[in-house]
Amino acid sequence: MKKFLVVLVLSIFIISSFATVIDTIKKRGEIILGTEATYPPFEYVDEQTKRVVGFDIEIGQAIARKLGVKLVVKDIAFDGLIPALITGKIDFIAAAMTITEERQKMVSFSDPYFTAGQVIVVRKGSGFSPKSYQDLSGHKVGVQQGTTADIDVSKVKGVSIVRYTRFTDAFLDLALGRLDAVVLDFAPAQAYVKFNPKLEISSPVLSQENYGIAVRKQDKELLGVINEVLKELKTKTAYDYLIDKWF
Ligand code: GLN
Repeated sequence: MKKFLVVLVLSIFIISSFATVIDTIKKRGEIILGTEATYPPFEYVDEQTKRVVGFDIEIGQAIARKLGVKLVVKDIAFDGLIPALITGKIDFIAAAMTITEERQKMVSFSDPYFTAGQVIVVRKGSGFSPKSYQDLSGHKVGVQQGTTADIDVSKVKGVSIVRYTRFTDAFLDLALGRLDAVVLDFAPAQAYVKFNPKLEISSPVLSQENYGIAVRKQDKELLGVINEVLKELKTKTAYDYLIDKWF
């Protein structure tokens, strides 16, 4: 009897130590996506429904569907996403996040699912029309804290850099003349410019970046599922549909 109990306890211990995040997610009935929702068309708050929608959210929904669970979206400051993932507050990040070596030290990324690059947005008729990062020298420039734009613009000497949590605040300041420029990826730049006729993109695309979905390093099975979903989305016309719908 005693032996039996020892074996039982041991096997429970061994089985539970093999339990993956997928088991936890399935038991919970939901998977938690972390994002920063001021980045249309990847993730933004729908004015009418007040829900976070966008290209990344649809990918998240496909991942949730694949696992047979509900998708929960958490809107977190961009520079808080990796800490939230590492501490287990979210299960994965889908936030137009560029795959970088620095981030790869902390998390694992899926296969690239989108190619992007930064551009500079200015106020129309302001007389300031920067074409390169260097042209930003001597000016007041808004970026989102912890983004690749923050990293790249921080390297330019003589820039007065203002770091924002929300792009909506950066663009408000740009429109009001409190900033000379904002740097961010092309697709969201285009979305902001479209909705604000006072603004325009002044530069060509300045960087080449690949977006990836991030998971904790130990969650290899989840990463496998995510890559499978991305592959399915790409082979099916679903990806074309998503691109058509959001771009
Ligand atoms: N692609 C950029 C980065 O990863 C910006 C992403 C974002 O602001 N959501 O840093």
